[in-house]
Amino acid sequence: MQLSHIGTVKEILSRHGFSFSKSLGQNFLINPSVCPKMAEMSICDKNVSVIEIGPGIGVLTRELALRSRKVVAVELDKRLLPVLAETLSDFDNVKVINADILNIDLHQLIKEEFSGEDVVVCANLPYYITSPIIMKLLEDHLPIRSITVMVQKETAQRICSPVGSRLSGAITVAVNYYSRPELLFNVSAGSFMPAPKVDSAVIKLTVPDTPAVTVNNEKHFFTVIKSAFAQRRKTLPNSLSAGLGVSKAEILSMLNFLSIPETYRAEQLSLEQFAEISNYFN
Ligand code: SAM
Repeated sequence: MQLSHIGTVKEILSRHGFSFSKSLGQNFLINPSVCPKMAEMSICDKNVSVIEIGPGIGVLTRELALRSRKVVAVELDKRLLPVLAETLSDFDNVKVINADILNIDLHQLIKEEFSGEDVVVCANLPYYITSPIIMKLLEDHLPIRSITVMVQKETAQRICSPVGSRLSGAITVAVNYYSRPELLFNVSAGSFMPAPKVDSAVIKLTVPDTPAVTVNNEKHFFTVIKSAFAQRRKTLPNSLSAGLGVSKAEILSMLNFLSIPETYRAEQLSLEQFAEISNYFN
C-alpha cells in the first residue's frame, strides 16, 4: 500500500467521505521519501516501541510499525478511525487510541501498553499545539528515549538554536534543559496535502537520564525562563523583577553575586545561568 501517493490518499479519503479539518492541523504527508527517513532516524533497533501522535491516515504509522516492536498511535479525530482500520489492517503490532494527546495520561499509557522496552515518540505534529505537546512530553518526565517530530521550520530553528543566541527563546531553554535537540532535515510545504503556508523540518530531541543542569525547583526555574523572555527586549533587572515580583534592587544584587552583567537580556543567558538564577531564589 503506497499511502504517500497523492492518488491513493485522495481515493481513500473520498471513499470515507473525509474532509480536512484546518483547526486540527490536518496536513497529510504525500512525499514518499519523508516517512521512511523519519522512521529510520527515530528508531534505532527493532526492540523499540513507539508512541505516535496524530497518525492521520497512517502513512508514518506504517513505516514505524515495519521497524519497531509496537506502535501506539493517539488520534483525536474520530472520523479517521475507520480509515486507519483499513490502512493498518495488515499490521498486528499497531494500536490506535482515540484521544487528545494533551489530556491523556502518558505514564499510564506506557505502563499499560509497553513492557519495559525502550520507548520513543515519533510524529508529524499538528502545528497549532506544537509547543504544548513538546512541553508535555518533556515536563512529564516520561520514560522515553527520544522525540522525533515534524514541526514548522521556524520552530525547528528556534528550538535547535544554541541557548544564549539571538534566535533562542523560552522553548529553546526548556528543551535544552530536558534534552539534546538536533535538526535532522527540512521538508518543503509541497510535501503535504493540503500544502501549508510554511515549510517544515524534522527535529530529534534525545532525552538523557537526568536534565542538563541541576535545579532545586523546576517550577520556579520555568517561571524564571518565562519571565526573562516575556519582555525579551528588556534587560534582566526589568524583566525579572516584573516576572518574579522581586524588587529591582534584589535582582541587581543577585546578578552581582552571580557575576552576570546587569545589561544582559534573556537571550544572552546560558542554561547554567538560568539555573543559577533560579537556585539563588529557591
Ligand atoms: N501523521 C499524518 C501524516 O503525517 O500525514 C497526519 C499528520 S497531521 C499534521 C496531524 C494529525 O494530528 C491529524 O491527524 C490530526 O487529526 C491529529 N491531531 C490534531 N490534534 C490532536 C490532538 N490534540 N491529539 C491527537 N491528535 C491530534
